[in-house]
Amino acid sequence: MITKDSIENLKTHLEVVDIISQFLELKKTGANFKACCPFHGEETPSFVVSPAKQIYHCFGCGVGGDSINFVMEYEKLSYPETLEKLASMVNVTLEYDGDYKKQDLTIITKVNEYYQKLLVHNKTASDYLDSRGISSSSIEKFEIGYAPVSGDTINYLKQNFLNLADAKDFGIIDTGQNGLYSRFIERITFPIYALNGKVVGFGGRTITGHNAKYVNSPQTKIFNKSRLLYGYNLAKDLIYKKNEIIVTEGYLDVIMLHQAGFNNAVATLGTALTADHLPVLKRGEPKVIVAYDGDKAGLNAAYKASMLLTSGTSSFDGGVVIFADGQDPADMVQNKKIEELNQMFSNPQPFIPYVIDFIVNKYDLSNPSEKQNALKEANEYLATLSPILQNEYSKNIASKLNINQNLVNVQHNTHRRKPVQLSQIDISELEIIKTVLENPDFLDEVLNTVDISMFETHKIEFEMLLNDINNPTLRGLLLNEDIKVYSKEQLTKMMIMMLANFYTKKLEQIKYGDLPNKIKLIRKIQGNIMNLKKGKLVPFNLD
Ligand SMILES: [Zn+2]
Repeated sequence: MITKDSIENLKTHLEVVDIISQFLELKKTGANFKACCPFHGEETPSFVVSPAKQIYHCFGCGVGGDSINFVMEYEKLSYPETLEKLASMVNVTLEYDGDYKKQDLTIITKVNEYYQKLLVHNKTASDYLDSRGISSSSIEKFEIGYAPVSGDTINYLKQNFLNLADAKDFGIIDTGQNGLYSRFIERITFPIYALNGKVVGFGGRTITGHNAKYVNSPQTKIFNKSRLLYGYNLAKDLIYKKNEIIVTEGYLDVIMLHQAGFNNAVATLGTALTADHLPVLKRGEPKVIVAYDGDKAGLNAAYKASMLLTSGTSSFDGGVVIFADGQDPADMVQNKKIEELNQMFSNPQPFIPYVIDFIVNKYDLSNPSEKQNALKEANEYLATLSPILQNEYSKNIASKLNINQNLVNVQHNTHRRKPVQLSQIDISELEIIKTVLENPDFLDEVLNTVDISMFETHKIEFEMLLNDINNPTLRGLLLNEDIKVYSKEQLTKMMIMMLANFYTKKLEQIKYGDLPNKIKLIRKIQGNIMNLKKGKLVPFNLD
Protein backbone atom coordinates (compact mmCIF):
# COMPACT_ATOMS: atom_id res chain seq x y z
CA MET A 1 0.00 0.00 0.00
CA ILE A 2 1.11 3.54 -0.76
CA THR A 3 1.36 5.43 2.53
CA LYS A 4 -1.18 8.14 3.32
CA ASP A 5 1.61 10.64 3.95
CA SER A 6 3.15 10.12 0.58
CA ILE A 7 -0.26 10.46 -1.10
CA GLU A 8 -0.75 13.78 0.70
CA ASN A 9 2.73 14.83 -0.36
CA LEU A 10 1.96 13.90 -3.96
CA LYS A 11 -1.26 15.93 -3.88
CA THR A 12 0.64 19.09 -2.95
CA HIS A 13 2.62 18.68 -6.18
CA LEU A 14 -0.39 18.33 -8.45
CA GLU A 15 -1.42 21.38 -10.41
CA VAL A 16 -4.68 20.51 -12.16
CA VAL A 17 -4.06 22.68 -15.25
CA ASP A 18 -0.54 21.26 -15.75
CA ILE A 19 -1.77 17.71 -15.34
CA ILE A 20 -4.80 17.94 -17.62
CA SER A 21 -2.97 19.91 -20.29
CA GLN A 22 -0.66 16.94 -20.74
CA PHE A 23 -3.70 15.12 -22.12
CA LEU A 24 -5.89 17.85 -23.59
CA GLU A 25 -5.38 21.19 -25.20
CA LEU A 26 -6.75 23.73 -22.75
CA LYS A 27 -7.78 27.25 -23.71
CA LYS A 28 -7.84 30.02 -21.16
CA THR A 29 -11.19 31.72 -20.72
CA GLY A 30 -11.42 34.16 -17.84
CA ALA A 31 -10.22 32.61 -14.63
CA ASN A 32 -10.67 29.09 -15.97
CA PHE A 33 -9.55 26.87 -18.82
CA LYS A 34 -11.77 25.12 -21.31
CA ALA A 35 -11.60 22.16 -23.66
CA CYS A 36 -13.90 19.82 -25.53
CA CYS A 37 -14.75 17.10 -23.05
CA PRO A 38 -12.77 13.90 -23.66
CA PHE A 39 -15.46 11.83 -21.97
CA HIS A 40 -18.42 12.61 -24.19
CA GLY A 41 -18.74 13.73 -27.78
CA GLU A 42 -19.04 17.47 -28.27
CA GLU A 43 -17.98 20.23 -30.58
CA THR A 44 -18.30 23.23 -28.31
CA PRO A 45 -16.19 23.04 -25.18
CA SER A 46 -18.09 22.53 -21.94
CA PHE A 47 -15.21 20.95 -20.03
CA VAL A 48 -13.92 23.50 -17.53
CA VAL A 49 -10.74 23.37 -15.46
CA SER A 50 -10.44 25.69 -12.50
CA PRO A 51 -6.92 26.42 -11.25
CA ALA A 52 -8.36 28.29 -8.25
CA LYS A 53 -10.39 25.32 -7.09
CA GLN A 54 -8.05 22.65 -8.49
CA ILE A 55 -10.93 20.79 -10.09
CA TYR A 56 -12.41 20.08 -13.50
CA HIS A 57 -16.04 19.71 -14.44
CA CYS A 58 -17.93 18.98 -17.62
CA PHE A 59 -21.20 20.89 -17.97
CA GLY A 60 -22.20 18.52 -20.74
CA CYS A 61 -21.94 15.12 -19.09
CA GLY A 62 -21.33 15.90 -15.44
CA VAL A 63 -17.92 14.26 -14.97
CA GLY A 64 -15.47 16.02 -12.74
CA GLY A 65 -13.07 15.93 -9.84
CA ASP A 66 -9.43 16.63 -9.12
CA SER A 67 -6.17 15.76 -10.90
CA ILE A 68 -6.26 12.20 -9.59
CA ASN A 69 -9.84 11.64 -10.75
CA PHE A 70 -8.94 12.96 -14.16
CA VAL A 71 -5.96 10.71 -14.79
CA MET A 72 -7.79 7.72 -13.36
CA GLU A 73 -10.76 8.31 -15.65
CA TYR A 74 -8.80 9.32 -18.71
CA GLU A 75 -6.18 6.60 -18.57
CA LYS A 76 -8.55 3.98 -17.15
CA LEU A 77 -6.15 3.14 -14.34
CA SER A 78 -6.77 1.86 -10.83
CA TYR A 79 -6.26 4.25 -7.92
CA PRO A 80 -2.73 3.02 -7.04
CA GLU A 81 -1.75 2.93 -10.74
CA THR A 82 -2.98 6.51 -11.07
CA LEU A 83 -0.91 7.63 -8.09
CA GLU A 84 2.15 5.94 -9.56
CA LYS A 85 1.59 7.55 -12.92
CA LEU A 86 1.11 11.00 -11.38
CA ALA A 87 4.13 10.53 -9.13
CA SER A 88 6.32 9.86 -12.15
CA MET A 89 4.76 12.77 -14.05
CA VAL A 90 5.62 15.27 -11.31
CA ASN A 91 8.77 13.53 -10.11
CA VAL A 92 7.65 12.63 -6.62
CA THR A 93 8.70 9.41 -4.89
CA LEU A 94 5.93 7.39 -3.31
CA GLU A 95 6.45 5.35 -0.18
CA TYR A 96 4.91 1.96 0.43
CA ASP A 97 4.11 0.30 3.72
CA GLY A 98 3.68 -3.34 4.66
CA ASP A 99 5.17 -5.99 2.42
CA TYR A 100 3.69 -4.54 -0.73
CA LYS A 101 6.19 -3.98 -3.45
CA LYS A 102 5.63 -2.23 -6.69
CA GLN A 103 4.66 -4.78 -9.32
CA ASP A 104 7.57 -5.41 -11.57
CA LEU A 105 6.35 -5.83 -15.11
CA THR A 106 9.76 -6.74 -16.51
CA ILE A 107 8.91 -10.40 -16.01
CA ILE A 108 6.23 -10.26 -18.72
CA THR A 109 8.55 -8.37 -21.01
CA LYS A 110 11.23 -11.04 -20.47
CA VAL A 111 8.78 -13.87 -21.15
CA ASN A 112 7.63 -12.04 -24.28
CA GLU A 113 11.22 -11.88 -25.53
CA TYR A 114 11.68 -15.55 -24.71
CA TYR A 115 8.59 -16.53 -26.71
CA GLN A 116 9.73 -14.41 -29.65
CA LYS A 117 13.10 -16.15 -29.76
CA LEU A 118 11.43 -19.56 -29.72
CA LEU A 119 9.22 -18.79 -32.72
CA VAL A 120 12.22 -18.79 -35.04
CA HIS A 121 12.98 -22.41 -34.05
CA ASN A 122 9.47 -23.76 -34.30
CA LYS A 123 8.66 -24.91 -37.79
CA THR A 124 4.98 -25.70 -37.22
CA ALA A 125 4.31 -22.24 -35.80
CA SER A 126 6.34 -20.46 -38.48
CA ASP A 127 4.67 -22.50 -41.21
CA TYR A 128 1.25 -21.62 -39.84
CA LEU A 129 2.00 -17.88 -39.85
CA ASP A 130 3.39 -18.24 -43.34
CA SER A 131 0.26 -20.04 -44.52
CA ARG A 132 -1.82 -17.14 -43.23
CA GLY A 133 0.30 -14.71 -45.22
CA ILE A 134 1.87 -12.98 -42.23
CA SER A 135 5.15 -11.36 -43.25
CA SER A 136 8.32 -11.45 -41.20
CA SER A 137 8.15 -7.71 -40.67
CA SER A 138 4.66 -8.14 -39.19
CA ILE A 139 6.01 -10.88 -36.91
CA GLU A 140 8.58 -8.40 -35.71
CA LYS A 141 6.22 -5.45 -35.44
CA PHE A 142 3.62 -7.38 -33.44
CA GLU A 143 6.29 -9.31 -31.50
CA ILE A 144 4.63 -12.61 -32.34
CA GLY A 145 6.17 -15.50 -30.43
CA TYR A 146 5.79 -19.13 -29.54
CA ALA A 147 5.06 -20.60 -26.11
CA PRO A 148 6.71 -24.03 -25.73
CA VAL A 149 5.68 -27.06 -23.70
CA SER A 150 4.81 -26.21 -20.12
CA GLY A 151 8.07 -27.43 -18.52
CA ASP A 152 10.21 -25.25 -20.79
CA THR A 153 8.54 -22.04 -19.70
CA ILE A 154 8.85 -23.00 -16.01
CA ASN A 155 12.53 -23.86 -16.53
CA TYR A 156 13.13 -20.57 -18.29
CA LEU A 157 11.66 -18.66 -15.34
CA LYS A 158 13.70 -20.65 -12.82
CA GLN A 159 16.98 -20.48 -14.71
CA ASN A 160 16.65 -16.73 -15.03
CA PHE A 161 15.78 -16.32 -11.34
CA LEU A 162 12.48 -14.71 -12.19
CA ASN A 163 9.97 -14.54 -9.38
CA LEU A 164 7.49 -17.41 -9.77
CA ALA A 165 4.91 -15.70 -7.56
CA ASP A 166 4.97 -12.68 -9.87
CA ALA A 167 4.70 -14.98 -12.90
CA LYS A 168 1.61 -16.45 -11.32
CA ASP A 169 0.17 -13.02 -10.47
CA PHE A 170 0.56 -11.97 -14.08
CA GLY A 171 -1.09 -15.10 -15.46
CA ILE A 172 2.00 -16.61 -17.07
CA ILE A 173 1.92 -19.75 -14.95
CA ASP A 174 -0.49 -21.31 -12.46
CA THR A 175 -0.58 -24.12 -9.92
CA GLY A 176 -2.49 -27.28 -10.79
CA GLN A 177 -2.77 -30.79 -9.34
CA ASN A 178 0.71 -31.65 -10.55
CA GLY A 179 2.36 -28.43 -9.49
CA LEU A 180 3.23 -25.45 -11.64
CA TYR A 181 2.19 -25.31 -15.26
CA SER A 182 2.38 -22.72 -17.99
CA ARG A 183 -0.81 -20.96 -19.09
CA PHE A 184 0.34 -20.92 -22.70
CA ILE A 185 1.38 -24.33 -24.03
CA GLU A 186 2.41 -24.86 -27.66
CA ARG A 187 0.73 -21.70 -28.83
CA ILE A 188 1.59 -18.80 -31.07
CA THR A 189 1.68 -15.79 -28.76
CA PHE A 190 0.45 -12.26 -29.37
CA PRO A 191 1.57 -9.85 -26.64
CA ILE A 192 -1.10 -7.39 -25.54
CA TYR A 193 -0.09 -3.89 -24.56
CA ALA A 194 -1.84 -1.63 -22.05
CA LEU A 195 -2.30 2.07 -22.62
CA ASN A 196 0.77 2.77 -20.53
CA GLY A 197 2.85 1.08 -23.25
CA LYS A 198 3.67 -2.08 -21.31
CA VAL A 199 2.97 -5.72 -22.13
CA VAL A 200 0.31 -6.89 -19.70
CA GLY A 201 -0.80 -10.20 -21.16
CA PHE A 202 -0.91 -12.52 -24.14
CA GLY A 203 -3.30 -14.01 -26.59
CA GLY A 204 -2.34 -17.49 -27.77
CA ARG A 205 -3.38 -19.58 -30.76
CA THR A 206 -2.89 -23.33 -30.59
CA ILE A 207 -0.82 -25.07 -33.25
CA THR A 208 -1.44 -28.56 -31.88
CA GLY A 209 -5.19 -28.70 -32.37
CA HIS A 210 -6.04 -27.93 -28.76
CA ASN A 211 -9.79 -27.56 -28.16
CA ALA A 212 -9.51 -23.89 -27.36
CA LYS A 213 -8.28 -22.33 -30.58
CA TYR A 214 -7.49 -19.07 -28.84
CA VAL A 215 -6.84 -18.32 -25.19
CA ASN A 216 -6.06 -15.06 -23.44
CA SER A 217 -4.22 -14.29 -20.23
CA PRO A 218 -6.56 -14.60 -17.27
CA GLN A 219 -7.94 -11.47 -15.68
CA THR A 220 -5.17 -10.10 -13.44
CA LYS A 221 -4.49 -6.89 -11.56
CA ILE A 222 -2.97 -5.48 -14.71
CA PHE A 223 -4.89 -7.29 -17.41
CA ASN A 224 -8.54 -6.46 -17.99
CA LYS A 225 -9.56 -7.82 -21.34
CA SER A 226 -12.82 -5.92 -21.52
CA ARG A 227 -10.93 -2.62 -21.48
CA LEU A 228 -8.01 -3.34 -23.76
CA LEU A 229 -7.84 -3.34 -27.51
CA TYR A 230 -5.29 -5.48 -29.31
CA GLY A 231 -2.96 -3.43 -31.49
CA TYR A 232 -3.99 -0.07 -30.04
CA ASN A 233 -0.38 0.71 -29.13
CA LEU A 234 0.61 0.38 -32.80
CA ALA A 235 -2.58 1.87 -34.24
CA LYS A 236 -2.74 4.96 -32.04
CA ASP A 237 -0.78 7.31 -34.30
CA LEU A 238 -2.88 6.68 -37.37
CA ILE A 239 -6.11 6.70 -35.35
CA TYR A 240 -5.34 10.26 -34.31
CA LYS A 241 -4.02 11.28 -37.70
CA LYS A 242 -6.82 9.79 -39.76
CA ASN A 243 -9.48 10.31 -37.11
CA GLU A 244 -10.70 6.81 -37.66
CA ILE A 245 -10.39 3.47 -35.89
CA ILE A 246 -11.25 0.04 -37.31
CA VAL A 247 -12.43 -2.45 -34.69
CA THR A 248 -12.16 -6.08 -35.76
CA GLU A 249 -12.72 -9.42 -34.08
CA GLY A 250 -9.31 -11.06 -34.16
CA TYR A 251 -5.55 -10.85 -33.79
CA LEU A 252 -4.91 -11.97 -37.35
CA ASP A 253 -7.34 -9.39 -38.75
CA VAL A 254 -5.38 -6.64 -37.03
CA ILE A 255 -2.01 -7.94 -38.13
CA MET A 256 -3.05 -8.46 -41.75
CA LEU A 257 -4.85 -5.12 -41.98
CA HIS A 258 -1.72 -3.35 -40.73
CA GLN A 259 0.29 -5.33 -43.23
CA ALA A 260 -1.95 -3.87 -45.97
CA GLY A 261 -1.54 -0.34 -44.65
CA PHE A 262 -4.68 -0.13 -42.51
CA ASN A 263 -2.58 0.81 -39.51
CA ASN A 264 -5.60 2.05 -37.57
CA ALA A 265 -7.01 -1.45 -36.98
CA VAL A 266 -7.47 -2.93 -33.51
CA ALA A 267 -9.41 -5.87 -32.07
CA THR A 268 -11.34 -6.68 -28.93
CA LEU A 269 -9.82 -9.58 -27.00
CA GLY A 270 -12.26 -12.40 -27.62
CA THR A 271 -15.08 -10.36 -26.12
CA ALA A 272 -17.79 -8.18 -27.57
CA LEU A 273 -17.35 -4.45 -27.47
CA THR A 274 -18.33 -3.31 -23.96
CA ALA A 275 -18.97 -0.02 -22.23
CA ASP A 276 -15.51 -0.40 -20.69
CA HIS A 277 -13.97 -0.01 -24.14
CA LEU A 278 -15.66 3.33 -24.78
CA PRO A 279 -13.12 5.55 -23.01
CA VAL A 280 -10.32 4.19 -25.19
CA LEU A 281 -12.43 4.50 -28.31
CA LYS A 282 -13.29 8.09 -27.41
CA ARG A 283 -9.67 9.17 -27.40
CA GLY A 284 -9.21 11.66 -30.17
CA GLU A 285 -12.88 11.31 -31.11
CA PRO A 286 -12.26 9.10 -34.12
CA LYS A 287 -14.91 7.75 -36.42
CA VAL A 288 -15.41 4.11 -35.42
CA ILE A 289 -15.71 1.36 -38.00
CA VAL A 290 -16.94 -1.92 -36.61
CA ALA A 291 -15.67 -4.60 -39.02
CA TYR A 292 -17.17 -7.99 -38.23
CA ASP A 293 -17.77 -11.35 -39.89
CA GLY A 294 -21.05 -11.98 -41.68
CA ASP A 295 -21.99 -15.04 -39.63
CA LYS A 296 -24.84 -14.94 -37.14
CA ALA A 297 -22.52 -14.21 -34.21
CA GLY A 298 -20.80 -11.43 -36.13
CA LEU A 299 -24.04 -9.76 -37.20
CA ASN A 300 -25.39 -9.93 -33.69
CA ALA A 301 -22.17 -8.52 -32.25
CA ALA A 302 -22.27 -5.67 -34.77
CA TYR A 303 -25.86 -4.92 -33.72
CA LYS A 304 -24.93 -4.81 -30.04
CA ALA A 305 -21.86 -2.69 -30.75
CA SER A 306 -23.96 -0.24 -32.79
CA MET A 307 -26.45 0.11 -29.96
CA LEU A 308 -23.64 0.68 -27.48
CA LEU A 309 -22.02 3.28 -29.72
CA THR A 310 -25.19 5.29 -30.32
CA SER A 311 -27.20 5.11 -27.10
CA GLY A 312 -26.94 7.06 -23.91
CA THR A 313 -24.35 9.75 -23.36
CA SER A 314 -21.83 8.53 -25.88
CA SER A 315 -22.59 8.74 -29.50
CA PHE A 316 -19.97 7.81 -32.00
CA ASP A 317 -19.67 8.68 -35.61
CA GLY A 318 -19.02 5.76 -37.92
CA GLY A 319 -20.66 2.56 -38.92
CA VAL A 320 -20.61 -1.14 -39.63
CA VAL A 321 -18.75 -3.14 -42.26
CA ILE A 322 -19.78 -6.78 -42.62
CA PHE A 323 -17.65 -9.42 -44.33
CA ALA A 324 -20.00 -11.78 -46.10
CA ASP A 325 -19.36 -15.24 -47.58
CA GLY A 326 -17.23 -16.50 -44.72
CA GLN A 327 -14.55 -13.93 -45.50
CA ASP A 328 -12.68 -11.94 -42.93
CA PRO A 329 -10.33 -8.98 -43.25
CA ALA A 330 -7.28 -11.25 -42.87
CA ASP A 331 -8.40 -13.44 -45.78
CA MET A 332 -9.09 -10.43 -47.93
CA VAL A 333 -5.62 -9.01 -47.37
CA GLN A 334 -4.09 -12.39 -48.10
CA ASN A 335 -6.12 -12.58 -51.32
CA LYS A 336 -4.89 -9.10 -52.22
CA LYS A 337 -8.36 -7.57 -52.19
CA ILE A 338 -6.98 -4.33 -50.81
CA GLU A 339 -8.98 -2.03 -53.07
CA GLU A 340 -12.16 -3.84 -52.11
CA LEU A 341 -11.31 -3.38 -48.44
CA ASN A 342 -10.68 0.28 -49.04
CA GLN A 343 -14.11 0.59 -50.62
CA MET A 344 -15.77 -1.22 -47.73
CA PHE A 345 -14.09 0.86 -45.03
CA SER A 346 -14.96 4.06 -46.91
CA ASN A 347 -18.67 3.17 -47.00
CA PRO A 348 -19.74 1.69 -43.67
CA GLN A 349 -23.44 1.46 -42.93
CA PRO A 350 -24.05 4.11 -40.24
CA PHE A 351 -24.80 2.66 -36.81
CA ILE A 352 -28.39 3.85 -36.37
CA PRO A 353 -29.74 2.58 -39.71
CA TYR A 354 -27.85 -0.65 -39.07
CA VAL A 355 -29.63 -1.14 -35.75
CA ILE A 356 -33.01 -0.28 -37.27
CA ASP A 357 -32.48 -2.72 -40.15
CA PHE A 358 -31.37 -5.41 -37.76
CA ILE A 359 -34.50 -4.97 -35.62
CA VAL A 360 -36.85 -4.83 -38.58
CA ASN A 361 -35.27 -7.90 -40.22
CA LYS A 362 -35.91 -9.99 -37.12
CA TYR A 363 -39.65 -9.87 -37.76
CA ASP A 364 -42.00 -11.12 -40.43
CA LEU A 365 -43.65 -7.84 -41.40
CA SER A 366 -46.47 -9.52 -43.30
CA ASN A 367 -47.80 -10.63 -39.92
CA PRO A 368 -49.47 -7.64 -38.20
CA SER A 369 -48.65 -8.73 -34.66
CA GLU A 370 -44.98 -9.22 -35.56
CA LYS A 371 -45.03 -5.82 -37.19
CA GLN A 372 -46.38 -4.45 -33.92
CA ASN A 373 -43.45 -6.05 -32.05
CA ALA A 374 -40.95 -4.66 -34.52
CA LEU A 375 -42.40 -1.20 -33.94
CA LYS A 376 -42.22 -1.65 -30.19
CA GLU A 377 -38.58 -2.70 -30.30
CA ALA A 378 -37.65 0.08 -32.72
CA ASN A 379 -39.39 2.61 -30.47
CA GLU A 380 -37.46 1.37 -27.48
CA TYR A 381 -34.20 1.90 -29.31
CA LEU A 382 -35.32 5.29 -30.61
CA ALA A 383 -35.97 6.45 -27.05
CA THR A 384 -32.25 6.10 -26.26
CA LEU A 385 -31.31 8.66 -28.93
CA SER A 386 -31.26 12.43 -28.78
CA PRO A 387 -34.50 14.20 -29.79
CA ILE A 388 -33.08 15.35 -33.11
CA LEU A 389 -31.97 11.85 -34.03
CA GLN A 390 -35.29 10.43 -32.84
CA ASN A 391 -37.10 12.74 -35.16
CA GLU A 392 -34.76 11.99 -38.03
CA TYR A 393 -34.95 8.23 -37.73
CA SER A 394 -38.65 7.95 -36.96
CA LYS A 395 -39.17 8.61 -40.70
CA ASN A 396 -36.76 5.82 -41.47
CA ILE A 397 -38.59 3.37 -39.20
CA ALA A 398 -41.99 4.40 -40.54
CA SER A 399 -40.91 3.75 -44.11
CA LYS A 400 -39.26 0.42 -43.26
CA LEU A 401 -42.41 -0.76 -41.52
CA ASN A 402 -44.63 0.92 -44.10
CA ILE A 403 -46.67 2.70 -41.42
CA ASN A 404 -47.63 6.28 -40.67
CA GLN A 405 -44.84 8.28 -39.03
CA ASN A 406 -47.23 9.31 -36.24
CA LEU A 407 -47.14 5.75 -34.98
CA VAL A 408 -43.44 6.00 -34.28
CA ASN A 409 -42.93 7.51 -30.88
CA VAL A 410 -40.62 10.40 -30.53
CA GLN A 411 -40.24 10.66 -26.82
CA HIS A 412 -38.44 12.85 -24.45
CA ASN A 413 -35.21 11.20 -23.59
CA THR A 414 -34.50 10.76 -19.92
CA HIS A 415 -31.26 8.83 -20.30
CA ARG A 416 -29.12 11.74 -21.22
CA ARG A 417 -27.79 14.07 -18.60
CA LYS A 418 -28.59 17.54 -19.78
CA PRO A 419 -26.40 20.53 -19.17
CA VAL A 420 -27.90 23.07 -16.80
CA GLN A 421 -29.77 25.68 -18.77
CA LEU A 422 -29.99 29.08 -17.25
CA SER A 423 -33.59 29.54 -18.31
CA GLN A 424 -34.63 26.65 -16.09
CA ILE A 425 -32.94 27.93 -13.00
CA ASP A 426 -33.51 30.52 -10.36
CA ILE A 427 -30.30 32.48 -10.23
CA SER A 428 -30.75 34.00 -6.79
CA GLU A 429 -31.43 30.63 -5.18
CA LEU A 430 -28.33 29.21 -6.82
CA GLU A 431 -26.30 32.23 -5.82
CA ILE A 432 -27.20 31.68 -2.19
CA ILE A 433 -26.26 28.01 -2.43
CA LYS A 434 -23.00 28.77 -4.21
CA THR A 435 -22.08 31.45 -1.69
CA VAL A 436 -22.47 28.99 1.17
CA LEU A 437 -20.60 26.34 -0.79
CA GLU A 438 -17.62 28.67 -1.06
CA ASN A 439 -17.97 30.05 2.46
CA PRO A 440 -18.96 27.24 4.80
CA ASP A 441 -18.93 29.66 7.79
CA PHE A 442 -22.08 31.30 6.38
CA LEU A 443 -23.97 28.03 6.66
CA ASP A 444 -25.16 28.48 10.24
CA GLU A 445 -26.81 31.81 9.56
CA VAL A 446 -28.51 30.41 6.48
CA LEU A 447 -29.75 27.32 8.28
CA ASN A 448 -31.02 29.44 11.12
CA THR A 449 -33.20 31.63 8.93
CA VAL A 450 -33.92 29.67 5.78
CA ASP A 451 -36.09 26.61 5.55
CA ILE A 452 -35.83 24.22 2.62
CA SER A 453 -39.48 24.97 1.78
CA MET A 454 -38.38 28.48 0.78
CA PHE A 455 -36.44 27.15 -2.19
CA GLU A 456 -38.86 26.96 -5.06
CA THR A 457 -36.61 25.69 -7.84
CA HIS A 458 -33.53 24.32 -6.14
CA LYS A 459 -34.63 22.34 -3.10
CA ILE A 460 -32.48 19.41 -4.27
CA GLU A 461 -29.32 21.47 -4.55
CA PHE A 462 -29.96 23.00 -1.14
CA GLU A 463 -30.30 19.55 0.33
CA MET A 464 -27.04 18.47 -1.34
CA LEU A 465 -25.35 21.34 0.40
CA LEU A 466 -26.26 19.69 3.69
CA ASN A 467 -25.93 16.00 2.85
CA ASP A 468 -24.08 15.45 -0.41
CA ILE A 469 -21.45 18.11 -0.71
CA ASN A 470 -19.40 16.23 -3.35
CA ASN A 471 -22.29 15.85 -5.76
CA PRO A 472 -21.32 16.75 -9.36
CA THR A 473 -24.21 19.20 -9.55
CA LEU A 474 -22.60 21.32 -6.85
CA ARG A 475 -19.23 21.06 -8.55
CA GLY A 476 -20.90 22.37 -11.70
CA LEU A 477 -22.35 25.22 -9.69
CA LEU A 478 -18.91 26.10 -8.32
CA LEU A 479 -17.51 26.43 -11.82
CA ASN A 480 -20.50 28.16 -13.38
CA GLU A 481 -19.34 31.70 -13.90
CA ASP A 482 -22.85 32.97 -14.51
CA ILE A 483 -23.65 32.33 -10.86
CA LYS A 484 -22.20 34.98 -8.55
CA VAL A 485 -20.79 34.53 -5.05
CA TYR A 486 -21.98 37.13 -2.52
CA SER A 487 -20.11 38.90 0.19
CA LYS A 488 -21.54 38.48 3.69
CA GLU A 489 -23.52 41.75 3.37
CA GLN A 490 -24.88 40.89 -0.06
CA LEU A 491 -25.85 37.45 1.17
CA THR A 492 -27.82 38.95 4.05
CA LYS A 493 -29.57 41.31 1.62
CA MET A 494 -30.45 38.49 -0.77
CA MET A 495 -31.74 36.35 2.05
CA ILE A 496 -33.89 39.16 3.36
CA MET A 497 -35.41 39.47 -0.11
CA MET A 498 -35.97 35.76 -0.35
CA LEU A 499 -37.52 35.57 3.13
CA ALA A 500 -39.73 38.61 2.57
CA ASN A 501 -40.96 37.09 -0.64
CA PHE A 502 -41.61 33.75 1.05
CA TYR A 503 -43.45 35.19 4.05
CA THR A 504 -45.58 37.48 1.89
CA LYS A 505 -46.72 34.55 -0.18
CA LYS A 506 -47.28 32.48 2.94
CA LEU A 507 -49.44 35.21 4.41
CA GLU A 508 -51.66 35.19 1.34
CA GLN A 509 -52.08 31.44 1.56
CA ILE A 510 -52.96 31.50 5.23
CA LYS A 511 -55.40 34.39 4.97
CA TYR A 512 -57.60 32.41 2.63
CA GLY A 513 -57.01 29.06 4.27
CA ASP A 514 -58.73 27.53 7.24
CA LEU A 515 -56.12 26.69 9.85
CA PRO A 516 -56.88 26.20 13.55
CA ASN A 517 -54.07 28.52 14.66
CA LYS A 518 -54.58 30.94 11.80
CA ILE A 519 -54.52 34.13 13.88
CA LYS A 520 -51.37 33.14 15.73
CA LEU A 521 -49.57 32.27 12.49
CA ILE A 522 -50.62 35.50 10.79
CA ARG A 523 -49.21 37.50 13.71
CA LYS A 524 -45.93 35.61 13.57
CA ILE A 525 -45.56 36.15 9.84
CA GLN A 526 -46.51 39.82 10.02
CA GLY A 527 -43.88 40.23 12.72
CA ASN A 528 -41.30 38.53 10.53
CA ILE A 529 -42.11 40.72 7.56
CA MET A 530 -41.80 43.84 9.67
CA ASN A 531 -38.37 42.86 10.93
CA LEU A 532 -37.25 41.96 7.43
CA LYS A 533 -38.35 45.39 6.20
CA LYS A 534 -36.11 46.92 8.84
CA GLY A 535 -33.25 44.91 7.37
CA LYS A 536 -33.12 42.29 10.10
CA LEU A 537 -32.81 38.59 9.39
CA VAL A 538 -35.38 36.55 11.29
CA PRO A 539 -34.99 32.95 12.43
CA PHE A 540 -37.40 30.50 10.85
CA ASN A 541 -40.30 30.12 13.30
CA LEU A 542 -43.17 28.41 11.53
CA ASP A 543 -42.48 24.82 12.61
ZN1 LIG B 1 -18.37 15.65 -20.76
